[in-house]
Amino acid sequence: MNNLQNNLVPLVPLVPGTNSTNSTNRYRYILASNKVPKLDCPYCGAKKHWQRYIDIETGEALPEHWGRCDNADKCAQWNDPYKDGYAKMIWEQEQGNRSELPNNRKPQRKKVTPQPQPDPVFFDFEAFKQTLNPEYYEENTFVQNLLNNITNPFKIDEVTKVIELYRLGTVTNGYRAGSITFPFIDINQNIRTIQVKQFDKQNHTTGTDFLHSIIEKQHTRNNQSLPVWLKLYLKQERKVTCLFGEHLLSKYPNSPIALVEAPKTAIY
Ligand SMILES: [Zn+2]
Repeated sequence: MNNLQNNLVPLVPLVPGTNSTNSTNRYRYILASNKVPKLDCPYCGAKKHWQRYIDIETGEALPEHWGRCDNADKCAQWNDPYKDGYAKMIWEQEQGNRSELPNNRKPQRKKVTPQPQPDPVFFDFEAFKQTLNPEYYEENTFVQNLLNNITNPFKIDEVTKVIELYRLGTVTNGYRAGSITFPFIDINQNIRTIQVKQFDKQNHTTGTDFLHSIIEKQHTRNNQSLPVWLKLYLKQERKVTCLFGEHLLSKYPNSPIALVEAPKTAIY
């Protein structure tokens, strides 16, 4: 069993620096290039002579213990992860086994435990569709700014195209009348949330809201009970659960992706 296991240990059997007939073997742990800052040698004390080891699978440096002093004539201390069992230990841990080493020799790898997310409640599609009436864009300050008021206005067919792509809409009544709606639609075309943004003529933001809050306030003000979907929707802790523009990923799988600060920037 032991022999078999030893044979399976990848990248271990060769000792760096020795000539080997098996030159196709690739090391996972290699001495870092000069781009990685050297430390003071813990053995001879020479400043900036301790060359670190790098794990090429994670891109991270191994703990400081492993390295080589390049003060070759005077010191040349070499703590080789393949010679003292470190490489094998990591390999065994990754196979689900455990072997004990002192704490300072333990690999410093972060474990990511995914948190289960509850299923999202989507924004009501009918309520979303009401924002899209084409006659409303005349009243939409942001859209009118793109066409008329910004320094280099866009052409109407460019603006129309971006409105259709991102499914931009308008709030037509209440205290946010004239605001634009930025729907956050996920890759499966579900509406996750609808951000409402009010702009001035210089196209600076003057107010931010969410359509679910506006609808909720309208109902409360008129003493109406909330629609069932909205009650469920409001119970969710998080409302913004996808990126703006995510729905386009499935439509344009080969396009480059840029992450920007806000929907306004994405539209520009
Ligand atoms: Zn040294």
